[in-house]
Amino acid sequence: AKILVTGANGYIAIWVVRLLLEQGYSVRGTVRTADKGKYLTEYFGKRGFGPDKLEVVVVNDIAKEGAFDEAVKGVDAIEHTASPFVANIVDPQGYIKPAVQGTIGIMQSAVKHAPGVKRIVITSSCGAVMAPPSKPSIFTEKDWNIDSVKEVEEKGVDAQPMSKYRASKTLAEKAAWKFYEENKANVNWELVVINPPFVFGPPIHEITGGPANLNTSLKAWYDAIVSGGPKTQEFLYTSNSWVDVRDTALGHILALQKQEAAGERIIVCSGAYNWQEWLDVASTIQPYPLPNHLPEKGFPGLETTYMIQYDTAKEKRILGIKLKTKEETTRDTLENLAARGW
Ligand code: NDP
Repeated sequence: AKILVTGANGYIAIWVVRLLLEQGYSVRGTVRTADKGKYLTEYFGKRGFGPDKLEVVVVNDIAKEGAFDEAVKGVDAIEHTASPFVANIVDPQGYIKPAVQGTIGIMQSAVKHAPGVKRIVITSSCGAVMAPPSKPSIFTEKDWNIDSVKEVEEKGVDAQPMSKYRASKTLAEKAAWKFYEENKANVNWELVVINPPFVFGPPIHEITGGPANLNTSLKAWYDAIVSGGPKTQEFLYTSNSWVDVRDTALGHILALQKQEAAGERIIVCSGAYNWQEWLDVASTIQPYPLPNHLPEKGFPGLETTYMIQYDTAKEKRILGIKLKTKEETTRDTLENLAARGW
């Protein structure tokens, strides 16, 4: 079977491509420029996956009408991951337009030009599930982040960068479900949406320059664990939830394979963290010497309160991923970064 993966050069997507190829699928990956495809062809070529298994095509503007009309032809399923996750776009539409138009566009292209498609998997986000709450909360697939959409409506360019991003994920996912509801009686495919929280773990995509150019989520981990100076207590006790990039990718593969995943929105999450816990784990892992800024373990009197947690019963029931631990993710990430001299 041939699977279309959009934004194939991204942090998560290249792991999706890798797991697909390792499981025997053929892949067509989209990138925005031919140049960005070269690394993919080389990386997988070296691992024995030549042009017969991996095809790379250019879709330069996913927001354009009919952008995916050619790319979808002849594929059996689609993994749509391309969407801006950066912090520096001022106009909220810079996030929202490619997120929403890209999502609707690929579904429209599938309807028109890809009768063989059986599944469409869309990478949404826990950013479409929640806006950071003011009290400790446990979220489920029933929750929707409407707050960030409202913030962007009210504040426009002055909204928080993460709110603009989260709003784009809510709006794109809502658009996907709406399109699916309106068309599902007439199509041969089912929609599955994967909602990851912060994704960490070893990068295998092309990163030009230094660690400053890591993708947004891994950059946050790198800045907290590997680089920078002493951290404040407030920072170290900042909490969120996370999942390993390889488990995120596996969730995307299982979403194609599991019959019960059809029509489901699924949170794929390993659990909660605060930065202090990652530092504690990292400090036990040899032989990757970290800069000498590790704080004393824990701060007396400060209790760990996880502000953002997820109910993962659905993932366990339908996908059943054996999720990686903080130790595994930390060891593999530090090894990967050390090999780059970072
Ligand atoms: P990356 O930045 O590594 O990958 C993003 C991919 O999307 C790249 O291929 C990028 O292409 C492409 N892209 C970005 N902006 C546009 C645009 N305007 N038009 C077309 N393509 C674009 O990030 P991730 O791998 O982390 O993100 C992949 C997906 O996962 C996104 O949908 C993101 O929202 C989602 N996600 C990520 C999480 C995380 O913590 N990392 C958590 C939850 C969801 P190019 O390289 O050319 O810019």
